[in-house]
Amino acid sequence: MDKRRRAGFRLETSYRFRRHGTRRGRQDARVADSAGLLATLTYGDSATVRITNVGRLRAKDNEPPGYWLDPADGRWMNERDASDASGDSGELPVIDEDGKEKRRKKRVIPFVEDRRNILVVTLDEPLPEPVALTVMYALERGIETAFELEDSELTSELLPPADGPHDRLLFTEAAEGGAGVLRRLQAEPRALAKAARQALAICHFDGDGEDEEGPHPDRPCARGCYECLLTYGNQLHHGVIDRRLIVALLLRLASAEVTSERRGETTTDQHRRLVAASVPAAITSEAAPATSVETEFLTWLREHGLRLPDEAGTTVPEADARPDFVYRMPGVNLAVFLGSADGEEDAARDEEAEERLYLARWDVIRFPEGSDWDAIAAEHARYFGLGPSS
Ligand SMILES: [Zn+2]
Repeated sequence: MDKRRRAGFRLETSYRFRRHGTRRGRQDARVADSAGLLATLTYGDSATVRITNVGRLRAKDNEPPGYWLDPADGRWMNERDASDASGDSGELPVIDEDGKEKRRKKRVIPFVEDRRNILVVTLDEPLPEPVALTVMYALERGIETAFELEDSELTSELLPPADGPHDRLLFTEAAEGGAGVLRRLQAEPRALAKAARQALAICHFDGDGEDEEGPHPDRPCARGCYECLLTYGNQLHHGVIDRRLIVALLLRLASAEVTSERRGETTTDQHRRLVAASVPAAITSEAAPATSVETEFLTWLREHGLRLPDEAGTTVPEADARPDFVYRMPGVNLAVFLGSADGEEDAARDEEAEERLYLARWDVIRFPEGSDWDAIAAEHARYFGLGPSS
């Protein structure tokens, strides 16, 4: 991961939980101490982890995501070739001054996918990046120590957005069907606390959070050292790692208890399911023209200067799915569903339909009832655009 990042690419990680027959592929839990909620945990076994190569780190500000591909020979194009080439592959051939047909180009956003056991830690309070990164590395090391893993068995990273405060940490077991530690963190009341206590010790704090100021009086440690949080693998972040930023949070986690949610349904899920169940069936009806929610969505897009979809009510045969809207963009198709997957009774619109779309190389975005449409669109600006100011 960091190796590729150092190679100059901007990588975005996303994930999707898998459903196993009737069993949900995700399990949730709450992390709380006596002062209240600290985080929620979401565990998924064999979840799909997708790493999207959005572009070069040194891309110009106005460069759209992805890379130019010559659709005729499948080769990546450099800037000069791309600027000489004609537009999208859907257009008529363009002839240059010498009567030769110009090369075509197609914008493609490459990605790789794997199946992994994952744990997403969603912090109740978003943290500035240095704090989020430091606590992430501390927990990774704490988990490895508490459960006697090799450091290659677990990886961690911050999930988007790339800028601004972070509230989601992704932990991934390196092998599918890995050691099962992430599942224990979600399922066992004190497993995370145990890892947090180890993290405190690794960061040179005693059990009360007193700073021992290094592994040994001869080897003082200020922000971090190779005996606590620094590794060759996280060199890119050495400048921001600071163990002193996280002692309060680790202390709270060390005394926190994890409560697993039954059947993977959180109170939020339950609320959404009930809301979804009370929505008129017309929304899921095939023949329905723009219903009120759909109309509202389109109007909202237009009023915010966001990109409008290409199609409405399209059936996607390769995924046996019927999203509300479809965006067809260079290198990627996007399915948009209005309404939550939880409680969705139409097999062409539920969580499994999403999964099939995903496997058919579609992207899927949902706007659940009652969600913050602005926030969702902003998070996916590469599809919806940034509005009139862009
Ligand atoms: Zn240290």
